[in-house]
Amino acid sequence: MENTFDVIVVGGGHAGLEAAIASAKMGVKTHLFTILIQNIALASCNPAVGGLGKGHLVKEIDALGGVMGEITDLCGLQFRTLNASKGPAVRGTRAQIDMDMYPIIAKRFALNTPNLTLSQELITDLLLEQNAQGGFEVIGVKSNLGKQYRAKCVVLTTGTFLNGLIHVGETKLENGRFGELSARTLSESFHQIGLEVGRLKTGTCARIDGRSIDFSNLEAHNGDVNPPHFSARTKDFNPIQIPCFVTYTNQKTHEIIRQNFYRAPLFTGQIQGVGPRYCPSIEDKVNRFAHKERHQLFLEPQTRDCVEYYINGLTTSLPVEVQEAMIHSIEGLENAKITRYGYAIEYDYVQPTELYHTLECKKCANLYLAGQINGTTGYEEAAAQGIVAGINAALKIQSKEPFILQRNQAYIGVMIDDLVTKGTNEPYRVFTSRAEYRLLLREDNAYLRLGEYGYRFGLLTHESYEQILKDKQDIAKTLEFLTHNFITPSKANKEFLDSLGLRAIGDKASLLQLLSINDLNPQALQELCAHFGLDITHLNPQAKEQICIESKYANYITKQQDSINNMEQMLKAEIPKGFEFDGIPGLSLEVIEKLKKFNPKSLFEASEISGITPASLDVLHLYIHLHTKGAKTRKENL
Ligand code: FAD
Repeated sequence: MENTFDVIVVGGGHAGLEAAIASAKMGVKTHLFTILIQNIALASCNPAVGGLGKGHLVKEIDALGGVMGEITDLCGLQFRTLNASKGPAVRGTRAQIDMDMYPIIAKRFALNTPNLTLSQELITDLLLEQNAQGGFEVIGVKSNLGKQYRAKCVVLTTGTFLNGLIHVGETKLENGRFGELSARTLSESFHQIGLEVGRLKTGTCARIDGRSIDFSNLEAHNGDVNPPHFSARTKDFNPIQIPCFVTYTNQKTHEIIRQNFYRAPLFTGQIQGVGPRYCPSIEDKVNRFAHKERHQLFLEPQTRDCVEYYINGLTTSLPVEVQEAMIHSIEGLENAKITRYGYAIEYDYVQPTELYHTLECKKCANLYLAGQINGTTGYEEAAAQGIVAGINAALKIQSKEPFILQRNQAYIGVMIDDLVTKGTNEPYRVFTSRAEYRLLLREDNAYLRLGEYGYRFGLLTHESYEQILKDKQDIAKTLEFLTHNFITPSKANKEFLDSLGLRAIGDKASLLQLLSINDLNPQALQELCAHFGLDITHLNPQAKEQICIESKYANYITKQQDSINNMEQMLKAEIPKGFEFDGIPGLSLEVIEKLKKFNPKSLFEASEISGITPASLDVLHLYIHLHTKGAKTRKENL
């Protein structure tokens, strides 16, 4: 039937785009509904993709076969590696993007995907059926044009649009994003299902006409000389880069803001939702850090023609005339013409503890939620959830095993685990510090960690997968070689090492040990291997980079791997029948209550319960061990 699909995706933002493309590529008939087709994957706020932690997500999405990395590489205006002087685990790729081009390319990707159709309609209701146990199942959606559509699975990725309410000073607008309709009725379906719905807030800054900025005294901030790219599929990367500029707020700016606190929706009680902790508005910063003399701002081009600039660091919902006064008090912006005013937006989100790790709703079968609707903030967080939800919806239709990434496999796994087990009461974003095994979850090895999944689901080509397999083999073979070849402290060897800029070890040591105390670049690695009889010139540059990193951190990587193996072993432990959770020291009352309620049969099942932390699993493991040992001793004493 024309109005029947396998998967319906509601919302063409960053989450919806990845979900729809993934599910369609997996061979199921997919339809994407969105409010405005020209705004597919629009950057609502910052014209940038990636950054610390977020760059990891983009590379993981790319490794799974998603499109965010490719689109960014195609329309990036500037590319940098953040934390380049720090260890590889905490480096992050970041790009400024042309925010007009991004949706154009995104739309092209969507329209070129077989099995995927799109239409511009606002979804107002979920079509639900109740089963005998009182649970719900989604069977389709209804649009604002009065049409009904059926689907086996529905993925909701509605971003900031659910009951979106914009604030600019005292002015309030019922919009999902400035000038766009708000989705006002969909949350009612959530209430019907019994989902916990909350309210969050985010905000954006004013945009400036590029011609009205005086750049003469502003410091330029350029991209890297060797710009990094995101996608493993990007070839011949040689972007023409354009700079950002740095300026600062000052005492006058702060005074203008302070004098208008009484009109700030954030302080007057007009805004109820909780905002992003790590991306506060300027009024919030001036209030909380009153001692600070200035705040750094980046003027970021929104498009290649630099017609408009985004003022990174100046998010605000102050009244328009206050925005004008504060902007004009800033160096370089004295005569700036505002093209778009800053605003805050409040919106509904669903508490993500309502979801399984697959992002399917616990209380409503076949309904998946991804992106800002789950309490996250950021394009990358949204896209990462989108691809997981899209894959799982397709897998469910194909009656295949669900796709769940563990915390030790990917940042995506860390994020989803955090969300569904702990929930969130403020906009959640990814940081490298959220991962326990960050030395293993590097940006540079994402394609090796996750490429196999991408291929298995049909999202990566055979050619891409062949390259991954070849790289894995080359890396393993070279590391093996470095482990089993030794260097002695002779004069000739010292001279050779000096020529490569490497520090020698006093005693005989394996090449791997030698490399663990040296920072090696791929060229030096190649020469070292050649000197000892192994030719690695033909290896993929990415594989050579992996060998340099893996050999430098071999000890730490082995330790993290051991710790993962121990954890995996631990999760296999069965919880004996009738095991008493009450009174276990080290477990909070909340944890005990949850364990009693869900009565897990194994530590793995316990780990899936929201609020059960790794620390409580450790305690539980110990007490299961004591319990089993006690039972055994009692038996032996009989
Ligand atoms: P969105 O990108 O919001 O996309 C949602 C899509 O769903 C839209 O295309 C919309 O048309 C469609 N849609 C919604 N409801 C329906 C419906 N009922 N029927 C059909 N289609 C529907 N992120 C940060 O990291 N830092 C920030 O500082 C920041 N500031 C922001 C400021 C503002 C004002 C806004 C609006 C967003 C901001 N964001 C910020 C958030 C960032 O835009 C989102 O995190 C990201 O875009 C979320 O992606 P998404 O796919 O979940 O939703």
